[in-house]
Amino acid sequence: NMFSKILSIVQKDQANPTVPLHSGSSVIPSLEELRLDGNLSFENIQYAAMDFGNQYHFLPSAVLYPKSVSDISTIIKHIFEMGITSELTVAAKGHGHSLEGQAQAYRGVVIDMESLQGSEMHFHIGEPPYVDVSGGELWINILHESLKHGLTPKSWTDYLHLTVGGTLSNAGISGQAFRHGPQTNNVYQLEVVTGRGEVVNCSEKQNADLFYGVLGGLGQFGIITGARIALEPAPRMVKWIRVLYSDFSTFSRDQEHLISLESSFDYIEGFVIINRTGLLNNWRLSFDPKDPVQASQFNSDGRTFFCLEIAKYFNPDETVITNQKIDSLLSELNYIQSTLFFSEVSYVEFLDRVHVSELKLREKGLWEIPHPWLNLLIPKCRIQDFAVVVFGKILTDTSNGPILIYPVTKSKWNNRTSIVTPEEDVFYLVSFLSSAMPSSTGTDGLEHILTQNKRILYFCEMAHLGMKQYLPHYSTPEEWRAHFGPRWELFVRRKSTYDPLAILAPGQRIFQKAT
Ligand code: FAD
Repeated sequence: NMFSKILSIVQKDQANPTVPLHSGSSVIPSLEELRLDGNLSFENIQYAAMDFGNQYHFLPSAVLYPKSVSDISTIIKHIFEMGITSELTVAAKGHGHSLEGQAQAYRGVVIDMESLQGSEMHFHIGEPPYVDVSGGELWINILHESLKHGLTPKSWTDYLHLTVGGTLSNAGISGQAFRHGPQTNNVYQLEVVTGRGEVVNCSEKQNADLFYGVLGGLGQFGIITGARIALEPAPRMVKWIRVLYSDFSTFSRDQEHLISLESSFDYIEGFVIINRTGLLNNWRLSFDPKDPVQASQFNSDGRTFFCLEIAKYFNPDETVITNQKIDSLLSELNYIQSTLFFSEVSYVEFLDRVHVSELKLREKGLWEIPHPWLNLLIPKCRIQDFAVVVFGKILTDTSNGPILIYPVTKSKWNNRTSIVTPEEDVFYLVSFLSSAMPSSTGTDGLEHILTQNKRILYFCEMAHLGMKQYLPHYSTPEEWRAHFGPRWELFVRRKSTYDPLAILAPGQRIFQKAT
């Protein structure tokens, strides 16, 4: 098919560095003549064909390192004005943590959004507090800067070394989403460069169609160059707790109970442990009530466990009342009583927890390997069916990486955005975060994991679970149409309004540029 053809061309290009990196048209010289504050580079751009997934590598023709929003507008306007005579497409690259080449542009221009990062963050301390940041800003930097004002964003991802534009183009979900909605629900305003090269400010009140289109819009309608992020007073400390269940329905009932409460934990997630063989032989020996990390490391000895992970924010002068609240919430749950893992950490330590694992994996050379991840949204009414088959039959262990599972409430997701979710008030995020050992042909190899992912997807389809992919990945227009369902018409209409030549985010492979 078309895609494997492209892939083979790219591979050939990369194997033979003497092959020109761009099509021989006059397009590239015309780009070189543009007046820019930053610069456009045609060399050493291989990194723009890489991402966290490490499975797709499409080499662009050039990388733009913008120093201003007008650089981005200039490039896109120029390509737009060339019309169908040019094949050039444009991809914004945030931190490049996509999984299947979504931030790449084969023979196009990749915009390195982090180059915009130097621009100052502007805090509004009044009511409501917010911060104006660049679209290429990393969430970890926003956290540190906000804390200097005693403030913090409300909704997060599990990992903070991602850009604002990258997560807002998807949703941005973590254990706070049940309460605050995804990150896309916690933005007041955006500055966007459309596929026509126009710079547009948009919000709920101004250019609302573009605002909602861009949120969860997979980069299809514009490049987010600025965002106004909602803030709230920051807590100093976090009580971080993990408890175990051996029965899925008890586990999920407790999760659903917790997210339904008016006053609950501040963070609610969970994960699955199937036949896990870790460094330790007996998980009971590894029991350390001070370290919740231990809950994920024990040897589950052929069995399946479900770990509820919860956190309560507090300030040091609220310790007594916080402990009482936690005791009261825990008393309503039905976990295995001897498995309470409890820890107290700083707010930053808690939010930036995945970075610690990143550093450890990097040290062992296990970070920059293929990541065949699969992220699914499953309606609550079918989560039992899903668990019985997927955790009970399809997967035999979780040694290739964590499997996260937690419910969120649809009412907290603004349904005017481009995000597609299942049709039920409560749905679960289930994330299979596998790592594949390079060149392994065993159960830790890429082929095996991809086959397993396909079996999971096939089961969801055959059982009509009403599943929707998060960070969706499809290769045919029919699949995209099915993904969007009744929202497809709106998505197409927005595309033809804001990016009529389909210049933007070609790596999502939803639309093809007209030439
Ligand atoms: P990129 O990969 O650079 O870009 C993603 C897409 O957005 C591309 O199509 C790109 O063209 C487009 N894009 C990038 N910047 C812009 C912009 N400024 N304007 C418009 N479009 C743009 N997601 C969650 O929701 N919750 C999690 O807990 C979570 N944890 C993660 C942990 C790890 C270790 C990793 C690798 C990913 C995780 N993700 C999570 C997924 C992550 O949110 C997405 O992959 C996100 O796209 C990554 O951001 P990025 O800045 O690297 O974007």
